[in-house]
Amino acid sequence: MGCRITTSKEELIRWVVEQTAPQPQVRLDFTGRAHGRGAWTHPVSKCVQQTVHRKGFARAFRAAVDTGAVLQDFAAYEDRLAPSQRTGRDKESGSEI
Ligand SMILES: [Zn+2]
Repeated sequence: MGCRITTSKEELIRWVVEQTAPQPQVRLDFTGRAHGRGAWTHPVSKCVQQTVHRKGFARAFRAAVDTGAVLQDFAAYEDRLAPSQRTGRDKESGSEI
């Protein structure tokens, strides 16, 4: 949605709209099974940021939506993936000394 990276559908992350006041809010669908219309992006911060910046979510959901929680949700998503990656980075930076 936000960029030109090509990838298979299984690798994308799904976003949904939560009907909150005063404006519906875009949230990451961690389960991938939430009801309603979904929007997909790559699980890459650059792609998510571009989608917010280019108002891709408003286009996808055909509504004015609040994207204030998008980057926060994506950070939480990355944290879940982090343990193995973080260990790898630590080892690499250690060997450079
Ligand atoms: Zn993308």
